[in-house]
Amino acid sequence: MEQVAADVCVVGAGFAGLAAARQLAGAGREVVVLEAGDRVGGRVWNRELPGGTVVSAGGTWLGQGQERMFQLCRELGLEVYPQYDEGDRIVRLDGINHRYRGNIPTTGPAALAALGLAFLRLNLMARRLPEDAPWKARRAREWDARTLGQWLSHPLNVPSATAHTLLRATMNLLFCADPAEVSLLGALVLARGGGGFGYYTDSRKTESHLVDGGAPELARRMAGRLGAAVHLSSPVRGIVQNTTDVQVLSDALAVRARRVIVATPPVLSGRISFDPPLPAAHSHLRQRLVPGAIIRVITEYSEPFWRGQQLSGQTLAPQSPLPITIDQTPRSGRPGVLSSYAFGPGAVRLGRLDPRERQKVFLGALAERFGAQARRPTAYLETDWSEQPWSLGGMVAHFPPGALTNYGSALREPVGRIHWAGTESATLMHGLMEGAVRSGERAAREVLAAN
Ligand SMILES: Cc1cc2nc3c(=O)[nH]c(=O)nc-3n(C[C@H](O)[C@H](O)[C@H](O)COP(=O)(O)OP(=O)(O)OC[C@H]3O[C@@H](n4cnc5c(N)ncnc54)[C@H](O)[C@@H]3O)c2cc1C
Repeated sequence: MEQVAADVCVVGAGFAGLAAARQLAGAGREVVVLEAGDRVGGRVWNRELPGGTVVSAGGTWLGQGQERMFQLCRELGLEVYPQYDEGDRIVRLDGINHRYRGNIPTTGPAALAALGLAFLRLNLMARRLPEDAPWKARRAREWDARTLGQWLSHPLNVPSATAHTLLRATMNLLFCADPAEVSLLGALVLARGGGGFGYYTDSRKTESHLVDGGAPELARRMAGRLGAAVHLSSPVRGIVQNTTDVQVLSDALAVRARRVIVATPPVLSGRISFDPPLPAAHSHLRQRLVPGAIIRVITEYSEPFWRGQQLSGQTLAPQSPLPITIDQTPRSGRPGVLSSYAFGPGAVRLGRLDPRERQKVFLGALAERFGAQARRPTAYLETDWSEQPWSLGGMVAHFPPGALTNYGSALREPVGRIHWAGTESATLMHGLMEGAVRSGERAAREVLAAN
């Protein structure tokens, strides 16, 4: 097997790994990046529709506070453009489409008040978490012993059936998991990183801009600047460390380096064999950070016909197989591209269907909100992230009950010469591309400070 030497080896060429490598290379360190897949980007991925249109099938939108991402786009010569957000949105409840403007669905005053109050209470709890150590919050143990689902189901927390339906759907979307699987404390960590749930639930904040050419093009350019330092199809199987260096063993080559940054999804770093073995807390945490399930459906039409119906393309239908849709039409305005999502247990159930049957179900769900035209896309593409061997799910891994209070300190704590990056380890913009970049830069700073 080929052997190479470097100052630092980075495992994983998603935004976290690429940002770490970029910062280290900028500081004059010799870096080698080992990427398991045959492309860079990880959870961001540009795919081609049957007719040739390129669409982003993973992380796509930038929003408020994603300063590092906007800056990287500028540095690498990529323009961003605003998300189309004119016309009405639709919330579909109990078989009826309700049109509304702005961010607040027309669900009746009781449901609205209950929604507002629930978010207010959750945000106040999130605000009490220490940014770097949420497991040290005064009520951390109590919140980590409960699931988000239990909190939402308590009638005093959400005293309206409609608000409960909407909140469950929203949380299902954010974690790509049933709220019954997610620790309440873990859910608050995500909220804390964006300054409250309002950030993640207001698409004008989280999804304000698209990258021309797609966010994956940014990853491609970052990797391009690193040149021959990036090795594709090189899954890392083992990391051996001693007092002076580390040896990182992949299928394609072995790297001897002074330090390593592991920037894979946590559950995949848990599958690497470490010698000496990781401390128990590190190993247990990595076995417990569970990736969510998400199927993204992209449908192309000759034009964005919904715009002609004064619809923005943004819809929420909690009881539908495709609860969320959003306009993803390219900057040129043609063809029309609609992006839709199935999440959590729903995505797992639908993933089992025969593909033709599933397509029929999905197009039927779109027709309920956009009319018969939605059933006749010129191109159709599904991406089931649970089937991606080097992601095993998306958008983000969640913390099940007990994981944070028992093992949370292992999230970022280096183990000798091994450092950790990845959006799940981010304190700000956790779960987003911005969180990934920030986590990679934080890990690079750790390495620079240690050497
Ligand atoms: C469908 C979907 C929609 C999303 N939408 C948005 C959005 O609109 N806006 C937003 O900000 N975020 C969004 N996200 C989230 C965003 O994409 C992620 O937060 C971010 O890309 C994670 O980056 P990362 O570097 O932490 O991890 P990853 O992107 O998962 O990168 C990890 C890398 O490690 C590699 N790897 C794994 N195991 C090994 C191994 N053993 N050896 C070597 N390499 C390995 C993987 O192949 C991968 O390239 C979305 C995600 C999905 C899936």
